[in-house]
Amino acid sequence: MVSRRSNLPTTGEVSVTELKSYNYIKSFFELPKLSPEDEKLPFFKRFQKLREIKSKDGTGATNTKILMRGVMLFQAPTMLYAFLWHIVPFFFSDYGPWAEYYMRVLCCYICINGLANWLCVILYDPAYRKSKDNPFLQVGGYDQPPDQFVPMIEQSSANGNGHCVYDMSNKEALPWEYCKDCEMYIPPRCHHCNICKRCILKRDHHCYMVGNCIGFKNQRYFAVLAFYAMVTGLVGGYFTFKYIQLVVWPQLDSWAYLFFPVAIWKSLFGAIPGFHVLLLVHLPLEFFFGFIGFVYVTSQLTVISSGKTLHELAKKVPVKSTLSVNKHFRSVFGDFWALNFLFPMTLIFRQSDDGLHWDGIKIDHNGNEKKNYGDYENKTV
Ligand SMILES: [Zn+2]
Ligand SMILES: [Zn+2]
Repeated sequence: MVSRRSNLPTTGEVSVTELKSYNYIKSFFELPKLSPEDEKLPFFKRFQKLREIKSKDGTGATNTKILMRGVMLFQAPTMLYAFLWHIVPFFFSDYGPWAEYYMRVLCCYICINGLANWLCVILYDPAYRKSKDNPFLQVGGYDQPPDQFVPMIEQSSANGNGHCVYDMSNKEALPWEYCKDCEMYIPPRCHHCNICKRCILKRDHHCYMVGNCIGFKNQRYFAVLAFYAMVTGLVGGYFTFKYIQLVVWPQLDSWAYLFFPVAIWKSLFGAIPGFHVLLLVHLPLEFFFGFIGFVYVTSQLTVISSGKTLHELAKKVPVKSTLSVNKHFRSVFGDFWALNFLFPMTLIFRQSDDGLHWDGIKIDHNGNEKKNYGDYENKTV
């Protein structure tokens, strides 16, 4: 008899799919080997070393990406279900059918808007590469910068990265640099990301929560996503907490059930209903996302209003902006920037910059002690 399993490609006894899932689960718990000297370091230093090794080989980032996308795909539909069918009727039925109806519409709107911005952050590629917008990008040719540049004016960095060339058509502009990994000249404010393995236009930071870099093309969606994460996390978390307090708590036999792994285990034996377990899983996730959303929406709005990026602040890149706050917002969100918080306005209001030329952004010669702009570049995570 031929079993279904024998049709799968196998390595000995185990199928490839099984092997892949086994390796994936193992990679979460497996720690890389440290050298004998590093083993003697104090606990915190050892932890930092392990983190460095994991971020270099990329497994840590890939695992987090799959985990966080999985959590998001679980959380959004189940939370919408919990609110539409249980939490909203419980809290708003006293105010009449219309109140309940409008609250349901509001829940759907917040969920759709959050998901739309999440997809935009993932699908809009923030990398600097040959594309419809940028068909003439030259790859390779370290000695031959594009025609409008003066070659090799400044060799600023010791590791061979960060050779600056200057655009002759605009003498005021920040220099372009050479990225050794991508083998091409990259525009000012573009930085290489070691996790994405690409140069990111106006790189802000690599976001582990969504699993890709935040840069010129997707920062507008990221700021809005952080806002919706904050609203759903904190307001949704509050209502879930009240519902648990009023409905779930009186039915629990022990406070230990509030700890969701215990609740999941007990629900297998029918001790508590599945829906109550779902809420107990939601509650810590909601407050977690709410807190992260709050941190990011405030930091993004601050950084955008100052005209800088988190990367430039973290690496102390000496740039300053001569533009107004309004221009900074238009550069990220396009015109009428606040409308983006109502719905993604991609096609209607385009960003006012092209991501390559930064006329109002200049080198800040009094920024800090180091003199060369290129000294700060290409030493990214
Ligand atoms: Zn690069
Ligand atoms: Zn990245």
